[in-house]
Amino acid sequence: MVQAAKYIWMDGELVPWDEATVHVLSHGLHYGTGVFEGIRAYETEDGGTAIFRHDDHMIRLVNSARAYGIPCEWSADDLTKAARETIAANELRAGYIRPLIFYGLGSMGLNPAGAETRTIIATWFWGAYLGEEGLANGIRVAVSSWRRISHEGLIPNAKGTGGYLNSVMAKQEAIRNGYDEALMLNTAGYLAEGSGENLFLVYEDRVVTPPTIAGALQGITRDTVMKLLHDEGHDIVERNISRSDLYYADEAFFTGTAAEVTPIREIDGRPVGSGKPGPITKRVQDLYMDVVSGRIDRYRHWLDFV
Ligand code: PMP
Repeated sequence: MVQAAKYIWMDGELVPWDEATVHVLSHGLHYGTGVFEGIRAYETEDGGTAIFRHDDHMIRLVNSARAYGIPCEWSADDLTKAARETIAANELRAGYIRPLIFYGLGSMGLNPAGAETRTIIATWFWGAYLGEEGLANGIRVAVSSWRRISHEGLIPNAKGTGGYLNSVMAKQEAIRNGYDEALMLNTAGYLAEGSGENLFLVYEDRVVTPPTIAGALQGITRDTVMKLLHDEGHDIVERNISRSDLYYADEAFFTGTAAEVTPIREIDGRPVGSGKPGPITKRVQDLYMDVVSGRIDRYRHWLDFV
């Protein structure tokens, strides 16, 4: 259940949570014509609330809209200001931020011309996406029978709402089969990512992740983790990963705004390494939480204080 807050920002105004509704003939509801983001705000060391890599998320949102040809009257700057306003109005010290741009009422054909563009920003409290237990001890994943959306039919690097039907099916299948999360291959058979997370594998001290051309989203947590690992002196290689490569990894973890850094302890019924989160995974996880909480000065430029 989403934990209700007081207000949702809609097209420039703060509207009471229960009144933030749209018409059932909104184009986006029928055809998945929308783009969205997922952002987190954290309570920092000194008590303030900071939104992590806020600009980067809003820039990705505006770029997703451009990629799918959805006109948007708001700039990334306008949207960061609106999100700060919404967090403050909801008196949230920490939480999740969900901006969404979609076609509303005005057209019922596939051609959205004539439909208005609507923009909302919702914020609410959201704990660990893959569970506290998963964060601490790792999760169990399996390769999905569904392949990740490809560059041939959609835009894997944009967060388009319609494309997420693919992720939803993979997630549901994983849960139905008793796993915590799905691993998705692309149509060429190489690893792309999780249903809503990027994938990292560790071989001794080499860290490997699929390239974005393989259909992985250019994750902001992925980028953060790559920078943190680089600054710690690790080699990070972006390369195609085959299904069999999965079974030889010493460590594996997911990254994502919602999932943060979540260790993977089992893949397709095989334990990863010792079956417990490995040293590099734990180090990255600790570093990431220190960074988002403002405990490391070197990375404080990634925090946008409310
Ligand atoms: N892949 C997919 C499909 C996602 O939905 C997300 C969440 N936005 C990610 C990866 C992780 O991206 P980020 O680190 O920017 O949240």
